[in-house]
Amino acid sequence: MSKWVYGFGGGRAEGRADMKNLLGGKGANLAEMANLGIPVPPGFTITTEVCTYYYENGETYPADIKEQVSEAMSRIEEIMGKTFGDNADPLLVSVRSGARASMPGMMDTILNLGLNDLSVEGLAKKSGDPRFAYDSYRRFIQMYSDVVLGVDHHHFEEILESVKDDRGIKLDTELTADDWKKVVAQYKEKVKAQLGKPFPQNVQDQLWGAVGAVFGSWMNQRAITYRRLHEIPASWGTAVNVQAMVFGNMGDDCCTGVCFTRDPSTGENAFYGEFLVNAQGEDVVAGIRTPQQLTLHGRELQHSDLPSMEEVMPDVFKELNAIRHKLEAHYRDMQDMEFTVQQKRLWMLQTRTGKRTTKAALKIAVDMAREGLITRKDAIGRIDPAALDQLLHPTLDPKAPRQLLARGLPASPGAASGRIVFSADEAEVWVKDKKEKVILVRIETSPEDIGGMHVSEGILTTRGGMTSHAAVVARGMGTPCVAGCGEIRVDYAAKQMKVAGKVVSEGDVITIDGGTGEVFMGSVPTVQPELTGDFATLMEWVDTIRTLKVRANAETPTDAATARKFGAEGIGLCRTEHMFFDPQRILAVREMILASDEAGRKVALAKLIPFQRQDFIDLFLIMQGLPVTIRLLDPPLHEFLPHTEVEIAEIAKAAGVDVDTVKQRNASLHESNPMLGHRGCRLGITYPEIYEMQARAIFEAAVHVSRDTGRTVTPEIMIPLVGAKKELDLMKASIDKVAAEVFAEQSYAVKYHVGTMIELPRAALLAGEIAESAEFFSFGTNDLTQTTFGMSRDDSGPFLEVYRAKGIYDHDPFAQLDQQGVGELVKIAGERGRATRPGLKLGICGEHGGDPSSIGFCQKVGLDYVSCSPYRVPIARLSAAQAALGDTKGSGMH
Ligand code: ADP
Ligand code: MG
Ligand code: MG
Repeated sequence: MSKWVYGFGGGRAEGRADMKNLLGGKGANLAEMANLGIPVPPGFTITTEVCTYYYENGETYPADIKEQVSEAMSRIEEIMGKTFGDNADPLLVSVRSGARASMPGMMDTILNLGLNDLSVEGLAKKSGDPRFAYDSYRRFIQMYSDVVLGVDHHHFEEILESVKDDRGIKLDTELTADDWKKVVAQYKEKVKAQLGKPFPQNVQDQLWGAVGAVFGSWMNQRAITYRRLHEIPASWGTAVNVQAMVFGNMGDDCCTGVCFTRDPSTGENAFYGEFLVNAQGEDVVAGIRTPQQLTLHGRELQHSDLPSMEEVMPDVFKELNAIRHKLEAHYRDMQDMEFTVQQKRLWMLQTRTGKRTTKAALKIAVDMAREGLITRKDAIGRIDPAALDQLLHPTLDPKAPRQLLARGLPASPGAASGRIVFSADEAEVWVKDKKEKVILVRIETSPEDIGGMHVSEGILTTRGGMTSHAAVVARGMGTPCVAGCGEIRVDYAAKQMKVAGKVVSEGDVITIDGGTGEVFMGSVPTVQPELTGDFATLMEWVDTIRTLKVRANAETPTDAATARKFGAEGIGLCRTEHMFFDPQRILAVREMILASDEAGRKVALAKLIPFQRQDFIDLFLIMQGLPVTIRLLDPPLHEFLPHTEVEIAEIAKAAGVDVDTVKQRNASLHESNPMLGHRGCRLGITYPEIYEMQARAIFEAAVHVSRDTGRTVTPEIMIPLVGAKKELDLMKASIDKVAAEVFAEQSYAVKYHVGTMIELPRAALLAGEIAESAEFFSFGTNDLTQTTFGMSRDDSGPFLEVYRAKGIYDHDPFAQLDQQGVGELVKIAGERGRATRPGLKLGICGEHGGDPSSIGFCQKVGLDYVSCSPYRVPIARLSAAQAALGDTKGSGMH
């Protein structure tokens, strides 16, 4: 007989924290807390295997499950001293979903299950509090009808609003027992009118209806979208937790809340949380009332005039704080917890690893390593390299003028500007169709808004706290968010918001700063990020672990300086053609390209050489002796050709020829497949004087800098698109000749290396031979991917999406290195190259050099360095360290 159900409570549990796959995250951690002796209402978990069974068997249950559930329910009844379905003293339960990976807001929880027209009376009598009983019943009817029966919650909200209006009151807490009775009666009528049958009174029907709804919600659109965005397989399934209710809505000595063992926004080692008195379940998250802070410290930070729990319930607070320490020490990570206090008695309802901003993640990892709670290696492993991207984005320029519009809560850091839209659907339309950047403005967000939240630059809500849906989801996505901005009044129908007497309409530009909670009119300029504090500390640790070097792809002084600031150990790719687009130079470049003979080209090249020499002087100075790999001219010539009549006339004049000659030459350079055409070293082969000019500029610059600064300057000259050793030999010979000339002229010599890009499959296969001439290889994996797949990066978008949907390729091979095919060529080339020339230096300079999973592969195949865009250097450094740690784990040597 299979075990489908695992019980917990009363100080012990059948499950454990490491059984997440079977029990889901929530169930496994409820079991763990019960085992730790932490007060958890008793309950049981129906396993994820049941969900899998359910979908594999036409939405039916295993035969023996009913019996196991009823046994588990008896254990709860024993512990609680109440009976499920009893009318005098009913046991009520919650039915909670819980997948392996936490899916915030994706699944629906039902509270107070087990109430009906008779037992509500019993509950009222037994508790001596009819108001509480009817409040619980109305919540149950609303949640159950919405989640299980499909009666939309707006029906219920309308009824509640009209009852409140009739009574002339604003807050739910002001309603009396009789009011709630009225509400319940109207709710039930509404359900009957909508469904044509009454609200279910049989508690077993209620229970199994709820269980079925949880399993059903695994396949709802929200959950499917979330899984797609987070790459969670549908096969994992969800568990269902059934748990005895404890009540935070029994009066003013009751509350419900959410808390974190450390501040999830800053990472500060301070208890952080919010609670609501006389409330239940999701009231805190739903932003129904403004929550109170747990601590005095938090209250001061938030400038809240409401008292903190530390002040009003000091004993409960102490107990909760002790549990905070216990759980964090046990899990050795920051925890996100949910709790309820029923008549001064504390119950824990959930704990999980807390989501945090990247800034907080760094602080927490560094602090915990210093506290001795985790090792430095653990700390390195805890940071998601991709998430560092958040910190590598610009923030508001402190000196820029700005016009403050409103102030809310700093819910997710980062600054963003965009046109405002008032619905998630509009956000998608503006971004996808109108190609605009948008800020999504909502009163509050809900799970249906996920798609629109994802495409928005930033999110602004007018209601809800730091743990509201908008705040939690935005932090997870790394999207800037300002929440609970109460001064703003949103009018969805008019597509407008009003603040401080000002009307701001759809399409108007605003800027939000999720780090401070401020909202500004218009677009405020931003400044570049710095690598300081905990970030810098972690990066120092990272550098003691990693073995892969990290270089940057850079050609401008600004990029090179940024790369250095972020810790690049050299330039892995300087694309010389990028230096030619400057308006001062492009004319000479065009003149060179359009010249019909060598003499004409030489005249134009002579105009370029002073510019090019200065480019290299600048780079060598900034890189201060670090290696600089310079790729000679690579792109198809047509990229430089003149397009307009004006441009053509300009060149004709500069070259001293007539316009028609330029046009003819222009036409003759046309290619049908430029990416596979006259480009790369094919240019050097056909027009040697171009590469000679570039080599001369490099050597003159190197001599100059070396002589004047006394630093070693070691240029690495790289020949692109080589497919045959002979190509490289010819180019190397002419570079050596220029070097000898320059060194003789200057009576000064520098060391240099000549190597090649490996970006054609033929070069990878013939790497053994090519390595006889090449002193280094750099894998140009953008072109190598194009040439291996035989598809163009610029044109493959539309069909690649279909390919991925059909499961032909798992990933976009231009974003993530295709290890099977392209990776195999990299491996072969490395092996064959090193067989010829042991110690041959190997690097990668494609887009993949900044992609964490690709970096892991680079480590595995023994590359010496990766090179990526300057802003990704810290990401690459961390990924390299994680790859090195993974390597030592994998080899079993340590
Ligand atoms: P989610 O996965 O969306 O966080 P939960 O299952 O944690 O949903 O339920 C949401 C909230 O409902 C909890 O934070 C808690 O406040 C309340 N809740 C759930 N189960 C119980 C229970 N047995 N007793 C009291 N409150 C509960
Ligand atoms: Mg929860
Ligand atoms: Mg290339």
